[in-house]
Amino acid sequence: MRPVEDTYRHKGLRKKLVQGIQAKGISDERVLDAVLEVPRHFFLDSAFDEKAYEDKAFPIGEGQTISQPYTVAYQSQLLEVKPFLKVLEIGTGSAYQAVVLAEMGAQVYTIERQKKLFESNKSFAFLKKYGSIKFFYGDGYEGLPTFAPFDRVIITAAAPEIPQKLIEQLRPGGMMVIPLGAGDVQRMMRITKLENGALKEEVFDHFSFVPMIEGRKG
Ligand code: SAH
Repeated sequence: MRPVEDTYRHKGLRKKLVQGIQAKGISDERVLDAVLEVPRHFFLDSAFDEKAYEDKAFPIGEGQTISQPYTVAYQSQLLEVKPFLKVLEIGTGSAYQAVVLAEMGAQVYTIERQKKLFESNKSFAFLKKYGSIKFFYGDGYEGLPTFAPFDRVIITAAAPEIPQKLIEQLRPGGMMVIPLGAGDVQRMMRITKLENGALKEEVFDHFSFVPMIEGRKG
């Protein structure tokens, strides 16, 4: 069961969480405001009611996890989201990251390869208030050519290499944030597609994501 009530206690825990990720180095006010706004416990089973505000990843079923709030904030900050930017997210999972981006004003297109997780979001009533998020069941490696180009691409699973089709779907001047690496630990990268089509690569901290897997799972 999903919780539906957002109490003062939850709001207080959220405030502490925001102070925690701020202390770890997140400074973008729009990111911090979004984390403060979004009731993370809604995205988890009610068994995680208070745990939801610990800065940790938690299971969401199908062997997947909701990313750690610090990681969500870190990727959102690197993405330099501004209102009305078109953002493609690979790995919808719990939809928490998608909602954080929507709170920051982005138009979000998010893809999930696991049917069960995709279906579970369809019946998640809270998401109805986010008309700026479009949900797709598919293989993130293919992206969404029909809706391209995107201003931003965010990959929330560990990619062994940079998916070329997603680079193609990036607008010149656009950016991709991607945890890159085939092992247990990846390196957060930001790839900027310059106006002349060349790629600028920046390397950031180490993270540990679940793998990005090719093909859909029914
Ligand atoms: N952004 C999510 C993180 C979920 S974990 C959140 O905020 O909760 C990563 C997700 O990526 C998993 O749900 C996994 O099923 C999905 N995934 C892995 N490979 C994928 C692919 N090729 N295309 C789409 N989704 C993928």
